[in-house]
Amino acid sequence: MQKTVAFHTLGCKLNFTDTSAIAKQFVEAGYNRMAFEQVADVYVVNTCSVTENADKECKSIINKIQRQAPEALVVITGCYAQLKPHYIAEIPGVDLVIGANAKFNIVEHVKNITQKGNAQVQACDIDTVENFVAAQSDDERTRVFLKVQDGCNYTCSFCTIPLARGHSRSDEIENIIARIKTSIKKGAKEIVLAGVNTGDFGIDPQTKKRTHTLLDLLQAIENENFDIRFRTSSIEPNLLTDEIIELIATSNVFMPHFHIPLQSGSDKMLKSMRRRYLTDLYTARVSHIRKLIPHACIGVDVITGFAGEDETDFIDTYNYLHQLDISCLHVFTYSERAETHAITLGNVVPMHIRKARTQKLRMLSHQKQMQHYAQHIGDNRPVLFESGNKRNATIEGFTDNYIKVSHAFDHSFINTIVDCNLVGINENNDMTVTIQQTILV
Ligand code: SF4
Repeated sequence: MQKTVAFHTLGCKLNFTDTSAIAKQFVEAGYNRMAFEQVADVYVVNTCSVTENADKECKSIINKIQRQAPEALVVITGCYAQLKPHYIAEIPGVDLVIGANAKFNIVEHVKNITQKGNAQVQACDIDTVENFVAAQSDDERTRVFLKVQDGCNYTCSFCTIPLARGHSRSDEIENIIARIKTSIKKGAKEIVLAGVNTGDFGIDPQTKKRTHTLLDLLQAIENENFDIRFRTSSIEPNLLTDEIIELIATSNVFMPHFHIPLQSGSDKMLKSMRRRYLTDLYTARVSHIRKLIPHACIGVDVITGFAGEDETDFIDTYNYLHQLDISCLHVFTYSERAETHAITLGNVVPMHIRKARTQKLRMLSHQKQMQHYAQHIGDNRPVLFESGNKRNATIEGFTDNYIKVSHAFDHSFINTIVDCNLVGINENNDMTVTIQQTILV
């Protein structure tokens, strides 16, 4: 009988791309992929170490699998598995823990397990992980996340990602172009270039030397004249060069959309976080974007309640973001992680204060987002319609500058780019539109 496998993924888009690549390997080995809610022979859980409750989430998923399919093999992989392999192996129900070195070789390891009971661990020192494995989120047809870079050489004091994913390494540009062509053949209309530290693109996995830059990759994609849309994912402010901004400003394929991590608007906190810039540089980046691309969407990551963030530091952050011409915030409440420099800093901010600060910044984000939307009412913008929502008879999509659009359901719009006039903001805070004409495929 054909064997079956099911997956559960926690965390970021990069984890979802990795799960897609692992799933493809199982399917090529003859497995039938099931939904996670169905009974399967093997379950693979791709974990995250950034999630606040990594431990709790991991245990609760294992419990769910045990209730659903007590005989199934349970495999735990991903960032948390790399950080805590032996701890996870002790959790009842786990059969195999796979670290970063063996993540794309799970099928072989599963074959070697003949019975449940003794959890095996396949993990290694993260510094020995050298390969770059190409992965993309094949599950979604319209928008594909394409991994072009993995790992990180930075040492931000709050972050465990370098310990879980290893040093910075990238795919070859020619290979990325070939992968893009394959995704387009499968129906992709928008590709997001994904990585852990995408701005650091271009380090050869074997030699660990830089052979290219992100600008080289963007230029190579631009030169291909693809008729789909591209977005860059988050780029560290110190790596978002003027040349990259200028290329996007004049591009035919890259959308006017930037995601730039800030983390704090206080220089004192940026230094303590070991970030590689201060607010002056960040301000200059935002100004350059606004000068060249006034309609761009600029999204900003920020952390509240980092060790030592006093009331003045938070007010500095709030005021800095308030005056900055940005479009939305992604706000994260700081939570301590073992093995980071940050937990040695002391000056812990009480959790209720961290949460209250998060709340204040989320309200500011809402104001910024609604300002971004309101500024564009009356514009004509291209919208890529993605999924239909038959329940409330609407179809949703995003403009080039990342305004979420809602329109009365029309099956013919799914996976097409349509020229729309932006009319107004509805009760769900989405933009309503009138259709001008279908402009692309
Ligand atoms: S740049 Fe900093 S926050 Fe981002 S993955 Fe690297 S160490 Fe972590």
